[in-house]
Amino acid sequence: MPFPKINLHIHSNYSDGKQTITQIVEKALELELDYIAITDHFTNSWKAWVSTLKNSEIIATYLEEISNIQEYLSEHNDQLTLLKGIEVDLASSEQFIKTYLQADEFDLILFEYLQSPESIAFIENLIYYWKLTYLDKSPILGLAHFDPSYFIMGNLDTLMLFLKKHNIYFEFNSHYPSFYSPKYERFFEKLREYEILVAIGCDSHDLRTLNNIDEPFEMIKYYNLERNFEILINLLDIKNSKKSYFSN
Ligand SMILES: [Zn+2]
Repeated sequence: MPFPKINLHIHSNYSDGKQTITQIVEKALELELDYIAITDHFTNSWKAWVSTLKNSEIIATYLEEISNIQEYLSEHNDQLTLLKGIEVDLASSEQFIKTYLQADEFDLILFEYLQSPESIAFIENLIYYWKLTYLDKSPILGLAHFDPSYFIMGNLDTLMLFLKKHNIYFEFNSHYPSFYSPKYERFFEKLREYEILVAIGCDSHDLRTLNNIDEPFEMIKYYNLERNFEILINLLDIKNSKKSYFSN
């Protein structure tokens, strides 16, 4: 069974990426990618000096630009699925996130720097808030470049139950290959055991890394997580009202 070409972690010049969203999409079409997500930074932590999606106006322009390209693609191309994403720094304040991030406007929300059980509680609190506020339209959720070393010595089951409960995926990120190293085999066994979703993201900041998806995909196979990956792809197709990739 052929697997789709997918990169769900890309930065544009709305944050610290080099290219415009249009340039990224043009390159993705040339590379014949199947699914991509633009996931620019969102933070008011110490990292906020990098350019980010820092206010409602910038976010509105960003979303409108992606919407227009999504519309274009739906009329002119039946291969590439483009997602509206955002990468939330968990060191941001709760107030900032709740004020500026309208979760129902996104297809995908990535969380970066989940490093403690306290951060699990922080994310859960946000999810409950979003569910109450935006009711039925919920984006896909994922962990950006998650470092298993923070949980491997304990709390691994707590983490898995949390990911399972909210359908949050683990990202095989080619920019941080040490996070999918075989030294974390036990972590990946748990992903399999709990049927946690997995995806691929390259953390692309320029076009040269847009297609760095082979190694992550090899590792998904190495850990026997193809089924978990397939479930994620099906979820993307359902959310985008597309014909299932695997029915081709
Ligand atoms: Zn990133």
